[in-house]
Amino acid sequence: MPETIVINGKSIDRGEKVLTKLVVSKLPSGTVIEIPVYVFRSVNDGPVVLLMAGMHGDEVNGIEIVRRMLTRKMLYPLKGTIIAVPILNIYGFLNFSRQVPDGKDVNRSFPGSRDGSLASRVAYRFMKEVMPYVEYGIDFHTGGASRSNYPQIRCELDNPKNLELASAFGAPFVLDSSLRQGSLRKEASKAGKSILVYETGESLRFDDFGISTGIEGTCRLLHHLGMMAGAPVVQQDSIICKKDIWVRAKNAGLFRAVVKLGDYLAKGQTIGSITDPYGEMEVRITSPAAGYIIGLNNMPVVNQGDALLHIAY
Ligand SMILES: [Zn+2]
Repeated sequence: MPETIVINGKSIDRGEKVLTKLVVSKLPSGTVIEIPVYVFRSVNDGPVVLLMAGMHGDEVNGIEIVRRMLTRKMLYPLKGTIIAVPILNIYGFLNFSRQVPDGKDVNRSFPGSRDGSLASRVAYRFMKEVMPYVEYGIDFHTGGASRSNYPQIRCELDNPKNLELASAFGAPFVLDSSLRQGSLRKEASKAGKSILVYETGESLRFDDFGISTGIEGTCRLLHHLGMMAGAPVVQQDSIICKKDIWVRAKNAGLFRAVVKLGDYLAKGQTIGSITDPYGEMEVRITSPAAGYIIGLNNMPVVNQGDALLHIAY
């Protein structure tokens, strides 16, 4: 563990708790956009763990997880350092949007560039200022569009450290997930750092079960690393899934599901139906594989090809 951590030009010594704000740019109105970064350092040697949310600005469940942990003063480590970033994409948060105002995704813009698009500037600043210190981390997300995710950890399971941390977290599901170009997870992995993605719920909606599951899992991970004195006992071992598939709409129309998130599906089991809005047509949808429902579309109006259901097995 470094003696001194310098973020945003601010030296943070062992035993200190500091809030520093990374200035990224200004809005057209002149309002300065800054990213709050909380750093909690123990006097004792230990790992540096990142807890980050709001990379996609409309994914409020992660923001709430970090907020509750800050409010409950749960982030003072027994050893090492916790860096908490409740909202990385402030622009998206203000606009109720996943992206930054030019439509680019911060999580496809890593490692970023100083003079690039807004998304790549956010990524660059974060990579330069915060990531050099981070060893492990959790990047909190929720389902995109109107899709809701059952609480799950995503990581590359062939990395033993990822598997160890995911097991310690103890989410209901762990999904083996390959690294995507431009993601924080990929850049971190190149540098030998383990970043787990935690997914729960739907964007712009609170999912209380997923928020409490996320907090409990984070406590277990910190406890496993010796940074927290105790943690809630996991109720059920994680179900580890190596494969996943999406069920997509074959017809446009109105989608109704007769199953719910977390359910186990047999192959050929009825998932729901798509009807036209006039009572003329109804198509039954069945599961193409046996597995667990880890993501479900909540938007009734669907076009051909829309993702309806995410099954892992
Ligand atoms: Zn996300």
